[in-house]
Amino acid sequence: MKFFSNLIKKCTPKFLLIKMYSFRALFRYLAIRREFKGTNVYCPCCDKHFSDFKVFKYDTTGLHNIDFYKNTSLNVVCPFCGSYPRHRIVCDYLKKENILLPTSNILIFAMPLSYKKWFKRNNLRYISADLFNIRADMKTDIQNISFDDNYFDFISCDHVLEHVPDYIAALKELKRVVKTGGVCGNNGSTPSGIKNNIRRCYNYRP
Ligand SMILES: [Zn+2]
Repeated sequence: MKFFSNLIKKCTPKFLLIKMYSFRALFRYLAIRREFKGTNVYCPCCDKHFSDFKVFKYDTTGLHNIDFYKNTSLNVVCPFCGSYPRHRIVCDYLKKENILLPTSNILIFAMPLSYKKWFKRNNLRYISADLFNIRADMKTDIQNISFDDNYFDFISCDHVLEHVPDYIAALKELKRVVKTGGVCGNNGSTPSGIKNNIRRCYNYRP
């Protein structure tokens, strides 16, 4: 199946492919609008209202604590931009505090799609950084960030630090490159704090 789909992609002119993707995105959007039509919940990342959030499908192979999810509402994923509560907390905070300007230096590690939508809508330029994702603007090891001291007004790390071999070194680097008075937001979990972190996020509905 994948072979045929790759063959179609190779043989189809690029302009036609773009049109096909645009149509697919439009149909997807219309389907979402029909299924989640309503105003009960709001996603500040994509600035849209829905009847509810989509159900989060947790991992059953050992990554997630299944017992925890049994007693928690799992309707937490934005049907349009895929944001989780932790993303909505950050976008809501940035909107309310209004700390960023078009001239601000912004660095985002492990850029989620939901942040892209928020930054684009607010005309804010950012640098996305990742060690492995080739779509990121630059490849950077968070333990050795290739920027000068006191450079960034805002830095976000979304579930990054728990995957870094030396997170203390990463924190020192973040402290080094963030400006005095700037903001560095770290979303993530630690082995001892994972339950509390998740519970706090899941209860949050802006
Ligand atoms: Zn959204």
